[in-house]
This record gives sequence, C-alpha cells and structure tokens, in this order.
Amino acid sequence: DEIEAPRRIQALHEDVVNKIAAGEIIVAPVHALKELIENAVDAGSTSLEILVKDGGLKLLQITDNGCGIHKDDMKILCERHTTSKLKAFEDLTAIGTYGFRGEALASISHIAHLTVTTKTADSSCAWKAQYAGGKLTAAKPGQSAEPKACAGRPGTQITVEDLFYNVPSRRRAFRSASEEYSKIADQVGRYAVHCTGVAFSCKKHGEAGVGIAVPATASVRDRIRIVHNSSIANELIDVLVTNNQYGFKAEGLVSNANYSGKRTSLLLFINHRSVESTSIKRAIEQTYAPFLPKGGKPFIYLSLEIDPARVDVNVHPTKREVNFLNEDEIIELICDEIRTGLGKVDTSRTFMTQS
Ligand code: ADP
Ligand code: MG
Repeated sequence: DEIEAPRRIQALHEDVVNKIAAGEIIVAPVHALKELIENAVDAGSTSLEILVKDGGLKLLQITDNGCGIHKDDMKILCERHTTSKLKAFEDLTAIGTYGFRGEALASISHIAHLTVTTKTADSSCAWKAQYAGGKLTAAKPGQSAEPKACAGRPGTQITVEDLFYNVPSRRRAFRSASEEYSKIADQVGRYAVHCTGVAFSCKKHGEAGVGIAVPATASVRDRIRIVHNSSIANELIDVLVTNNQYGFKAEGLVSNANYSGKRTSLLLFINHRSVESTSIKRAIEQTYAPFLPKGGKPFIYLSLEIDPARVDVNVHPTKREVNFLNEDEIIELICDEIRTGLGKVDTSRTFMTQS
C-alpha cells in the first residue's frame, strides 16, 4: 500500500474565518435580533422599535434612542473583536453589559446587507453607513464608502437586509417565514417583559397592527398582561429569594395553582440575559406537578442575579446558555420558595370554598 503524502496545512483566509464564525453566532434571524436588542439596551435606550419582513430574512430593523455611536468609530464598528465594553479578559468576571466580544455586528456584516444610522447627543446630525464583510462599503458602485451626514433623531437604527444571502445552504433551510417570526416575537416578548423602563414595539412590515407594544412605564405584571394575556397576569404570585452563601438573588412572577397551560412558559434571565436552562425548567415542572391538573404547565418569569464571578457567560457562541456555581442548590432554593407560594394560594382557596 502506498502511504498518502501529508497534506499541507494552510491558514484560512480571514474572510472564510469570519463567515464560519458568523454562521455559529447567527443561526437564525432571531439570533441577530437578540444581539441587536442587547446592543440597544446596552446603549441605555428607553425605546426599541422593531420591524420585521419575511420572518427577518428579508428585513430586520431596530431603532433605539440610546447613546448612539461616535462618527469616528463607525470605521471599525463592524470589525471583529471591536467593542466598547471589554478591555481585559478578567473584566468578564464583572461584565455588566450583554455584549463583550464585539462579534455581533461583524458577524451580521458578513452574512447580510447592513446599514447603520446613528446620532450621538453632541453631534449636530446623524451619520449613515453601509457595511459588508466587516468594512464600510459604498451604497452604490462608484460612491464613497465613508459615512454620510443625514437627518436623524438621537440613537441608532440598524437595518439588516437579506440575511444569509451569501450562505445559500443556510438560507434554504428556512421553510417558513411565519415560524421565524414567531421565534422573533417570542424573543422580543421576553425582553419586553424583563426590561422595565424600556418601551418595546415589534411589527411585521406592511401590517397595520403592532404585534407587541409595551410602554416604558409598564410594570412587569402589566408587561406580562400585554405580551401574554390577562388569564396569566391575574394569576401570578411574587417570588423572591436572596442567599449570600451562593451569592444570588432570584426575583420573579410565577403562575399560581389556578392557572394551567399546555406548555411551560419559562422566561428566564440570568444577570439580565435571556437564557435557556433545561435543568431549571425540569425542576420547576416537578415543583408544580402536585398542584396542577394532570399535564398542566406553569408560566414562569424568573430573573436570577448571580455574583458575576460565579457565572461563566462565555460557554456558548450565542450566549444562550450560561454556567454557574452551585446550580443544584440554587434551583432547589427557588423551587422551595415557589412550593411555599403555591401552598399558600391553595389553602386560601380551600378556605374560601369551605366558608
Ligand atoms: P459587543 O456588543 O460585544 O461590544 P457588537 O458587535 O454587538 O459587540 O457591537 C460593537 C460595538 O458597537 C459595541 O461595543 C457598541 O460600542 C457599539 N454599538 C452597537 N450597537 C449599538 C447601539 N444600538 N447603540 C450604541 N452603540 C452600539
Ligand atoms: Mg453586542
């Protein structure tokens, strides 16, 4: 047998690396939108307007009233690993913002047509720029790629068009725009419930009505009423657990024994980031099982604040999951609190029917 000659190793072209990375971070339109929402909240916005066309594949636009981006930073805005939020790796242990890797806008610019219009408070006008492959690009051939002055309100508008236009295999994988839109509406709904002090609107392009409209002043309970419905909002109990040993605080609103849904709704935030956790979901479902009719499922809004030194946010490219210390103990303390709350409501109901 003939031994095959070793194949030579070569460095991938930077563009290829960036496109591969982008595909890991942005798997579906909802992931781009989540990054854009988090950027807008990081920028101190009190109003977020979201516009979606074809499930976000044709258009994703988010307009905020935050701090804006300095004109001189627009040149490097979409380069990979450019951020205003992190300087040293150690800063990750105390990170107070959603973003930190400077990868979201870079990724989007590699797999979509990206336009940014932004105005800081001290600028007399807004600036508009187009990006492709991490760099400023001309809107039309022959034009300059430099940001152009234009009229605009303070804040930032990010427009993402034709997502995955240059990744045909990914593009083809999306069969239904309405499925992608419902993932987007779900994600917007989560932040709309959690981010008190921030107004949210989300609508489909070309539709008269607004899908989601939450005013800045609404309480969490009102937000749940608006985003979900009254039959949930009327049956909520407060949950509050603080614990120094494990360095956490859990605050939330959870359905009582009068409410029973088809599927568990878990709106989970860890240090204000919307995340998923099968272990928390399973533990909570077990806690509710004795209180609900067979197959009945709860509604849970839970905001967990954990000492950042005990959390690793960097385990997943999309930051969808995070790891933290003493997970089992923390989950048990939360479930104990929920169980106590459910028990209270139950006895009052029994008491009422007896009298
Ligand atoms: P990261 O959020 O990890 O820093 P991004 O690629 O999401 O990386 O954003 C890069 C930088 O662009 C941010 O650090 C921030 O300075 C700026 N930026 C992005 N979106 C906005 C926005 N909506 N308002 C103000 N600044 C923004
Ligand atoms: Mg970001």
